[in-house]
Amino acid sequence: MSREIEKIKYCSAGHSSEDFAYPYCRNLIHSVGLCDFCTKEHFIQEFKNWSSGNTNIDKIMQESQIKNRYNKLHWIPYDNFQNIEYIADCDYGSVYSAKLENGIKWKWNFIKQDWRYRLKDFKVALKEIKNSRYDIVRVINNYNCIDYGISKNPSTQNYIFVMDLLDGSLHNFLTKNFWGLEWQSKMDILSSIASLLCFSHEKNLVHCNLHSGNILMNYNFDILDLVIDSGLCKLEDNLILNSNNKNNQIYGSIPYLPPEVLRGNEFTRKGDVYSFSGIMYEIVTAKRPFTDQAHDTYLMIDICNGVRPKVSDFMLNLIPEWYLNLMYRCWSDDPSERPTSIELSNLFCEITDKLQDNIFDNNVMRQLKIADENHEHTSNPQKQELLEFFSYSSKLHPESCYISKCIHTLYGLHDLLEEIKSGKSSDPNILKSNESTTLNADT
Ligand SMILES: [Zn+2]
Repeated sequence: MSREIEKIKYCSAGHSSEDFAYPYCRNLIHSVGLCDFCTKEHFIQEFKNWSSGNTNIDKIMQESQIKNRYNKLHWIPYDNFQNIEYIADCDYGSVYSAKLENGIKWKWNFIKQDWRYRLKDFKVALKEIKNSRYDIVRVINNYNCIDYGISKNPSTQNYIFVMDLLDGSLHNFLTKNFWGLEWQSKMDILSSIASLLCFSHEKNLVHCNLHSGNILMNYNFDILDLVIDSGLCKLEDNLILNSNNKNNQIYGSIPYLPPEVLRGNEFTRKGDVYSFSGIMYEIVTAKRPFTDQAHDTYLMIDICNGVRPKVSDFMLNLIPEWYLNLMYRCWSDDPSERPTSIELSNLFCEITDKLQDNIFDNNVMRQLKIADENHEHTSNPQKQELLEFFSYSSKLHPESCYISKCIHTLYGLHDLLEEIKSGKSSDPNILKSNESTTLNADT
């Protein structure tokens, strides 16, 4: 028989509902035995029972348990994971799925004098951090990117982030669903990415490695929730302080890197906007930028000379003109001509709202309506032609690479450029054939 839940003024330990258990949150006490204050005190009592082996990481987790009512980070012992299955390799290491056998501690029950657990038998993603470039303490500290907690693989001693299990990357999603996507979904996706970018940029964080392969989707066939993996994020203030330094090498995927970065300059917020354009391109063409070319030093020189991915003529009546203009503006060679992430976020938010309410009151909205109608009215032979073109054009060039890797900038290659062009020197940016099979297999 369920017991009626009512708020009460005092718990059995004497805490009052007038107290503040967490900043700005009055203590919630329920007659079933729940009290924020008791929960917090018991979390503090448990501090002596666990450790990650790193006092900085312990401190961050402890603080999250003291300060947040909801977003607590837990130390999750590795033996809590069952049915561990490998999913994929990523920039930072490997991702696995697993079941949380015992769940995680949620609230202390002062009547039962025991913990209430949540997420028992729940499937989660484990991100094992193998890449030593990944500064774990900084990532945990700066970003709200870990959903549940942290663990450690006892055999490798690598730390593990315990996260929501996502349905794969945006690129995989688009490959599977492109032909069924209406503008509403396309705008939803772009609006989510732009607002996440805007959120980071407001904190002066630059993503530095935005591409459709590292935007993860929590996908329920109608709900789109995007998570950006922030392993390479940098603070723009730090970058600008170092702006006299030119980089010999950078990390990323050439088609998404802005020309100024390929030349050796620092990555700024406007660089993220350039990378965003590659995502805008894929959302309307089903292709990633420069699929049919080798991703080598020649392509870097072309990009610096203003070459950008093209949209096939026969797709043009399916894409609003303003969209193409905006996409090429994000791809401007001059960063100051690119829009800000706030502009992008505001625009896509407004469009998704209007699409939801069927408001077509301006040119932007009217063009979207026409594009959707043209898509509907595309005849079957035309669709067949599009599909054939799509399967042809989605074939990857054997020397393309959409996984982030170390790239020598044009600044770093300066003395070698003439020799590379004349064939006297081999191009250090070209993918060796054995590398390409492994790298492209993941994408
Ligand atoms: Zn209490």
